[in-house]
Amino acid sequence: MAGKRKNHCSFCGRSEDEVALLLTGAEGFICSDCVRQADKIVRESMGDVAHSKKEGTADAAPDFGELPKPREIKAFLDEYVIGQDSAKRYLSVAVYNHYKRLSQKVDDDGVEIEKSNIIMVGSTGTGKTLLARTIAKLLKVPFTIVDATIFTEAGYVGEDVESILSRLLQVADFDVKATERGIVFIDEMDKIARKQDNPSITRDVSGEGVQQGLLKLLEGSIVNVPPKGGRKHPDQDYIHVDTRNILFICGGAFDGIERKIAQRLNTHVVGYDSVQNQQRVDTKDLMKYIVPQDLKSFGLIPEIIGRLPVLTYLDPLGRDALRRILTEPKNSLVKQQIKLFAMDGIKLSFEEEALDYIVDKAVEYKLGARGLRSIMESIMIEAQYSAPSEAKDTLVITRKYAEEQLEKQKEKLSNIG
Ligand code: ADP
Repeated sequence: MAGKRKNHCSFCGRSEDEVALLLTGAEGFICSDCVRQADKIVRESMGDVAHSKKEGTADAAPDFGELPKPREIKAFLDEYVIGQDSAKRYLSVAVYNHYKRLSQKVDDDGVEIEKSNIIMVGSTGTGKTLLARTIAKLLKVPFTIVDATIFTEAGYVGEDVESILSRLLQVADFDVKATERGIVFIDEMDKIARKQDNPSITRDVSGEGVQQGLLKLLEGSIVNVPPKGGRKHPDQDYIHVDTRNILFICGGAFDGIERKIAQRLNTHVVGYDSVQNQQRVDTKDLMKYIVPQDLKSFGLIPEIIGRLPVLTYLDPLGRDALRRILTEPKNSLVKQQIKLFAMDGIKLSFEEEALDYIVDKAVEYKLGARGLRSIMESIMIEAQYSAPSEAKDTLVITRKYAEEQLEKQKEKLSNIG
């Protein structure tokens, strides 16, 4: 009697007797050894993909074929951020130049492109963080946002400035080379201004001390970074990170800086062409006249200002901008609400008058675009709660409905104001 024909692994050719396990497929067989081997190859090649992606940010220069030009970067920002043209241009150029700098070869000409850290000044809720976050979507280098208020001078409660780099390291999966080419957005930069324009004789743990610490990072030096962030600890092993190529983008509201600008403009115009100059000054929007000297008057130390050579400002958001912010950006508040309800099979729409009402209230609460979100949430909470259980397929938000809902939530809103 002829024996049963043996099955063979379609990959290594060994028969079922020679292997631990033979799996049957539609058209062939695979043995357990080949499965393991294949798994290893897959992992390695996937790992390589991840690795080579990181290399775009580390050893290898970014692929300029894929690198968006400043105009393209700005066009991308336009999809998410309304207005703020000047800041968008500066950011686009800065990011583009950052990539160029990373790819530069030190030629015989000895020309070395230096980095140009940026500072963006603009009142709260005008889109500084949004700009930073949107840029991050485009970037091929590690990127992190940190809040300057958590830092204090070494030895005091709070975090050391070096922990900025711990975060960047974490984002870069502890790849030091990638970290050294990253971008850091430092928010609330104004909160570390020193309290007076002249150096203080008393300790200023959260102001000048922190600025001095930050200076080290901005200047470009080898910094000992505690891998886990937080406080430095004598027993800890440090990672050495060179900050020469890390781009820093700072943002802050600098509340009250208009007064400093006004003072400066006034002193300038006196005695020289004064009437003519004063007429040209747009007193409603003094921010656009900001110069580094004003940051010094506000309490940033000159060394820090020198390390933030690109100064740009964000426009205050007027009624028109707020109205556009509600509907136009790719993930505008209105689009988000519509999507939320669509997931329950409900077609949501807003009457124009209801949107105007939301804008009116945002202007009233003086919270910039930040106010839009809390107002929208207050108006929609009731519908979000009950509509999914009701058998409705459309919901129209009228001005009357918006007014009623907001009235109900007023107490809550007055708390955030
Ligand atoms: P800032 O950092 O200037 O205080 P944010 O960027 O955090 O302000 O803005 C708060 C919210 O307001 C953002 O999440 C965004 O929804 C909205 N917002 C602010 N400015 C704009 C803008 N120019 N375009 C679109 N949305 C904006």
